[in-house]
Amino acid sequence: MNFLEERIAKDGVVKAGNVLKVDSFLNHQMDIELLDEIGREFRRRFSGRPVTKVLTIESSGIGIAYPVAREFGVPLVFAKKSKSINIDGDVHVAEVASFTHGNVNKVIVSKKFLSPDDHVLIIDDFLANGCALRGLIYIVEDAGATVEGLGIAIEKGFQIGGSTMRELGYHLESLAIVDAMDEETGSITFREQE
Ligand code: 5GP
Repeated sequence: MNFLEERIAKDGVVKAGNVLKVDSFLNHQMDIELLDEIGREFRRRFSGRPVTKVLTIESSGIGIAYPVAREFGVPLVFAKKSKSINIDGDVHVAEVASFTHGNVNKVIVSKKFLSPDDHVLIIDDFLANGCALRGLIYIVEDAGATVEGLGIAIEKGFQIGGSTMRELGYHLESLAIVDAMDEETGSITFREQE
């Protein structure tokens, strides 16, 4: 098991509805040492890629994306959830269905912060059905920029997002892939990775 799988096995909690809670170390209380290690690991996995920006979605993606942007020495941009109906032409907009909240959010990124010259590494905490990634990819492509890769802390391999992204040809790196989890026993099964 790698460092993140070990931590999930120790402190992750399986909840109803295929939800894995990692709020004691990843997305509520945050273990800064662990996040730094995540940053270094994504830097290693995407080494050689000409990344100019890291893009994520608020709020829980930000903590993961921060150490990645620091490692690459590039700005971090996060897509903001917007309640406004009157969105002006200065922003890229995508609709993202929320896996955990069951609603649909419009997310926006100012056109100032993504240009056709940008090579973007998209980072998020979880990959389930792929709605968040699809929205972020749409925004990058709307800006005429290039998606260099997709970096996910925890992929739930029994949901379709990961296989969809790989079939579409994106370079997807998930630090931990959960292939099965059991709410009754709390057991979590990880996919073997190199
Ligand atoms: P997707 O858009 O791929 O269906 O779901 C990914 C998004 O939903 C992530 O941004 C993450 O915030 C949230 N999410 C999906 N599954 C889980 C989960 O099992 N636990 C937590 N904490 N968040 C999840």
